[in-house]
Amino acid sequence: MRLKDHVHSDDYPSSYYAATINDSAGFSQLEGDQSFDVCIIGGGFSGVASALHLSERGFNVCLLEQNLIGWGATGRNGGQFIGGYAHSLWDHKGMVKTFGEKGGPAVWDMAVECVDIIKNWVEKYDIDCDMEFGYIDVAMNPKEMDYFRRTIDALEETKYPYEVKIVEKDEITDYVKSDQYIGGRTNDGWGQVHVLNLCIGEARAAEKLGVKIYERAVVTDIIHGSRPKVVTARGTVTADYVVVTGNGYLGNLVPKLESRVLPAGSYIIATEPLTDEQIANTAPLRWPTCDQRWALDYFRISKDKRMLFGGLATYSGRHPRNITGAIVPKMLKVFPQLKGVKVDYEWGGYMGIGLNRIPMVGRLSDNVYFATGYGGHGVAPTHMSAKLVSEAIAGQAERYDILASINHPPFPGGKYLMKPAHTIGMAYYRMRDALGW
Ligand SMILES: Cc1cc2nc3c(=O)[nH]c(=O)nc-3n(C[C@H](O)[C@H](O)[C@H](O)COP(=O)(O)OP(=O)(O)OC[C@H]3O[C@@H](n4cnc5c(N)ncnc54)[C@H](O)[C@@H]3O)c2cc1C
Repeated sequence: MRLKDHVHSDDYPSSYYAATINDSAGFSQLEGDQSFDVCIIGGGFSGVASALHLSERGFNVCLLEQNLIGWGATGRNGGQFIGGYAHSLWDHKGMVKTFGEKGGPAVWDMAVECVDIIKNWVEKYDIDCDMEFGYIDVAMNPKEMDYFRRTIDALEETKYPYEVKIVEKDEITDYVKSDQYIGGRTNDGWGQVHVLNLCIGEARAAEKLGVKIYERAVVTDIIHGSRPKVVTARGTVTADYVVVTGNGYLGNLVPKLESRVLPAGSYIIATEPLTDEQIANTAPLRWPTCDQRWALDYFRISKDKRMLFGGLATYSGRHPRNITGAIVPKMLKVFPQLKGVKVDYEWGGYMGIGLNRIPMVGRLSDNVYFATGYGGHGVAPTHMSAKLVSEAIAGQAERYDILASINHPPFPGGKYLMKPAHTIGMAYYRMRDALGW
């Protein structure tokens, strides 16, 4: 489904990322009928990372992206790379409950590995993407602080490799100068990245390994069979395996996924570059920061010193008419000291949300796999799902099976009722946020 609205066109949005892209050479265009070992649909992190994992394993791969590489949520997000995979980020016990005695610890390890995949590739392929480390979750009430403390206690059993520490009330302004927060939890293994440059850098690395990357290739059909065929207006690809990504942008190409993945809008502004004094008075360490609410505020200071501030969650398919007008009041509530600062960029995009909040990997038929449904937390998890699918295609499905065995129910009422149902759900979560439940 190609989207045309004031947030989406066929080109990159007018975002900070698109304005600071460091490789705009583009990729190829599909012509005629082609044959590959694996055909990947979707050029976001799920698709590009699948291509890179599979090409590293020696498969002959092509990738079809309907617009441009990183055009979807991947090139539009907050740029916060946060570990954790499948479940609330630190809930080791919950993982054992969901995935079993053997599966739980394996999924916990993936929570660490998903970040390491990105770090390794940035180094290995020399990707220029402003990667920096240091991250803080902030609490607005004592209950959230108690949760942070519990999660840190649980970490001791798991030999977690990064430093994680509690920030008490009297220290929080060393990290974030706002009266909104009563403390936090830091993580020096998580951080921030220029996501569009990361995605294009990964795609370029895959291309150098032989992957054919085709942009402007809208997939209109997948014909299942012993060698499935993927159809576009410009040509077809026949392959031994197909990997469907697409997340919140897949539309109705795969009805099974359409009823399980709800596109939810989130929106970001980037201010003009701040002065050193303004940074010292807002986010002195420049760290990416998230609060704990359902419809959370998230922000960070980019390498070129802009405040990137994001928030909102819309489920109706309708975007705020004026993104700056909707986000600036949120920013000023956290940082009134930024009053009068100019906004240079505004944009938004769709996350893909599933009912149980666990990333979805699985198969649509024997040789057609999918990887989707990360909610607002997908920069690192996409790289893990891509790895699981590539392991399965290479015949090592042990870890993939742990995730693929999870049942992902459709939203009640299917695609026609899922938005109203979710709007009611959203009202409930907003009330929870407001009352601090
Ligand atoms: C505003 C916003 C802020 C976010 N902030 C963060 C954050 O700070 N940290 C974090 O971890 N996560 C964040 N996320 C979530 C994260 O961006 C996503 O989970 C992740 O990028 C999903 O990657 P993906 O490849 O699965 O999907 P996408 O990046 O959406 O890519 C899907 C691609 O598939 C293509 N496609 C769809 N249908 C077809 C078709 N028929 N033919 C060909 N191509 C097709 C689309 O054009 C698109 O490029 C945020 C999301 C949004 C929207």
